[in-house]
Amino acid sequence: MSKSSLMKSKIQRNVYLVGNPNCGKTSLFNAITGERRRVGNWPGVTVQKLEGIANSETANLTICDLPGTYSLTPATPEEEVVLKTIDAAADGCIVNVVDIANFERNLFLTTQLIELGIKPVVSLNCFDSFTKAGGTIDLQKFSTFTGTTPFPTVARTGEGTHNLVEFIGRPDIISVEDCENWLSLPQVWLDAAEEALRLKDLHWHSARPTQRYSALTDLIRLQPDPIVPELIEIRQNLAKKLSEGREIPVKTTNLACELASDRYRRIEKLIAGCAIVPGKNIPAWQEKLDRMLTHRFLGLPIFALMMAWVFWTTFSIGEIPMGWMESLVDWLSGFVQANMQEGLIRELLVGGVISGVGGIIVFIPNILILFFWIALLEDSGYMSRAAFIMDRMMNSIGLHGRAFIPMIMGLGCNVPAVLATRIIDNRFQRLLTMLLIPLVTCAARLPVLVLLCGTFFPENPSIWMFTLFFVNLLVLIFLGQTTSMLFKTSENSPFLLEMPPYRLPTPSSVFHMLYEKAAHFIEKAGTVILAGAVIIWVLSVFPREVPLSFDYESELTRLRSSEITVESTERIAELSRKREIELMEGRYMARLGKFIHPVMEPLGFSWRETVSLIPGFLAKESVVSTLSVLYLPYSDNLGDAMRKTGMTPLTAFVFMMFTLLYIPCIATLGVIWRESGSTRFTALALVVYFAIAYVVSYITLKIGAVLQTSTSIDWFEGLVIITVAIAAGWYLIRTFIVTIRGSRCNSCASCSSCPSRGKSDCSGGQP
Ligand code: GDP
Ligand code: MG
Repeated sequence: MSKSSLMKSKIQRNVYLVGNPNCGKTSLFNAITGERRRVGNWPGVTVQKLEGIANSETANLTICDLPGTYSLTPATPEEEVVLKTIDAAADGCIVNVVDIANFERNLFLTTQLIELGIKPVVSLNCFDSFTKAGGTIDLQKFSTFTGTTPFPTVARTGEGTHNLVEFIGRPDIISVEDCENWLSLPQVWLDAAEEALRLKDLHWHSARPTQRYSALTDLIRLQPDPIVPELIEIRQNLAKKLSEGREIPVKTTNLACELASDRYRRIEKLIAGCAIVPGKNIPAWQEKLDRMLTHRFLGLPIFALMMAWVFWTTFSIGEIPMGWMESLVDWLSGFVQANMQEGLIRELLVGGVISGVGGIIVFIPNILILFFWIALLEDSGYMSRAAFIMDRMMNSIGLHGRAFIPMIMGLGCNVPAVLATRIIDNRFQRLLTMLLIPLVTCAARLPVLVLLCGTFFPENPSIWMFTLFFVNLLVLIFLGQTTSMLFKTSENSPFLLEMPPYRLPTPSSVFHMLYEKAAHFIEKAGTVILAGAVIIWVLSVFPREVPLSFDYESELTRLRSSEITVESTERIAELSRKREIELMEGRYMARLGKFIHPVMEPLGFSWRETVSLIPGFLAKESVVSTLSVLYLPYSDNLGDAMRKTGMTPLTAFVFMMFTLLYIPCIATLGVIWRESGSTRFTALALVVYFAIAYVVSYITLKIGAVLQTSTSIDWFEGLVIITVAIAAGWYLIRTFIVTIRGSRCNSCASCSSCPSRGKSDCSGGQP
């Protein structure tokens, strides 16, 4: 048989990875497809379906990595994805990834799948940690009692995944012979579900999984919706049958609880039946470490220290490779200048491409250092602890601890962060988190900070950078508190975020995160930023003819033809510069800048800074690349040029403040629009950002001026500043106190049985 006909005879199959958050689905996906998707040791990393291809001897498999979910009952938009896909998945093959180290919780989803008549292939993942901790399981019995084929896997290393792939590629995989299935739905429930389905002219055996699911949901809902008399009768009958032989009869309103406890009973039976013995789950050192890192008083300072360390290294260590990158860009620019004929093309290359894109590329080392630490913190499992510590802080701004996850993701790029808000179930909180995310400093804004802090605060740039982040954080808290105060909602779901075990980050996952960041950055530099830089360059070299105040040309020709002395060389250089500057001021860019300048003038920005904010809307990195193009005539060194044209440390600080806060880039705005589904919300958010940025920058400028006593202010401004300072102080202290004391009881779902009900130390409602 020829190779091509062999290829044709292979079966095509869609395979869906379903499992709890953080059980290793994406790792498994990567292991069997050879892709490199983001793996993280905390829930909420994958919020969208991912697809990849794998090939076994007998099949071409399309593998789909679904977002993690604890149960099929969707609580968040992210979990809904799984339920929506389940019908299609049942037609293909479902691989249920079970973190065997946490089997009890993981088997809940397995039970739900089996109840719906789905026969998943089970990947018993994290088998290494399980056996290392001394856990054991009888695989043969597991297979018999669940009617599934289990595969022990270590997705992190790929161990065991080959067998799994070969199995799911087999033509006969779907028809697993019937056997005693301890996880399947008890007969009482099956009968009731059958009756409920009959109301819709359906039968259990021929119904789709989602139809079966909705029949079960009809049975257990608190109130049947809509109220169908027949359904009420079925529910009453079911309750009556379940009550047989019990002291306390089962109420129809309690059927959901009944079903859930029945599932746990089945799981318990299975665990006993297949002799699953958990290993010693959490090593003592991990418990100790956890106690320290999530400590009520120590937790927050430790987190702050870690962040300070991250920023400090981003700056100080980053400076060295940044110097190399700068010399490389300088060399390239010199090389082009020396080897190309003078003309527009050379000018475009030097003034537009190299100075624009090069001005951005030099920041890659800083960004990599930042993400090196973030990858370590995420992969080790610390981030979930940080989310726990921040839960109280988050509550004080009306948010759920879960909102911390998208916020931290926002440090990288706001776009995936907005997507990650899908892990939040409450719509108001989702919107609020979306509103706040653009106030998280994404990596694209880092170049502005690194550049200006380095230039204007050379003694201790990282302290100033940290200050900026801190002010930014205050603004975020302020906006969050005000918004949630204005639109108070009483809903608050309990904070259930799993604490994953501490794991040693794998070099490959850290490396891939860095690679991903660098690739994203370079790609952006080569596309959006390049285009932006070229447009800026065009606007800054046209019109070619600009009326000059002085006949530079003839004076320069005269000087060049006369005797060369030190003075004449200096004079030539000076005149050339002056001419360049005057030309620049006559070009379109300057005209545009001067036109909108009055709006930004109160903040102390020159027309160059003003103009640079416009391409910043396309990509924040473009602020720096635009500045590099616009300041080129003043000096080869951007920092020098800025100082020369009158930028002071104070205005630089205010400019950084403004850049951090003003409107997010267009991509972020796009996802906010899509995810919120509301144009009004998006438009309003835009106005809010701009207004906040303006007001905060203005106040910063005034406070700075007073501190420097370089200007006096009138009583009105003084009053405003004092009021704002007091308000800011009040917020800070209040937030701090709330954080330390713990938030009030949130009256969550578990409140009636909550031991800490009404007490001040109810941590987000978790009993
Ligand atoms: P997902 O949320 O289900 O997609 O899980 P990820 O693939 O992102 O993995 C979560 C964490 O578990 C990461 O830190 C992985 O390195 C780790 N992990 C995944 N598979 C295994 C495994 O088989 N053994 C061990 N020890 N760790 C694993
Ligand atoms: Mg994942």
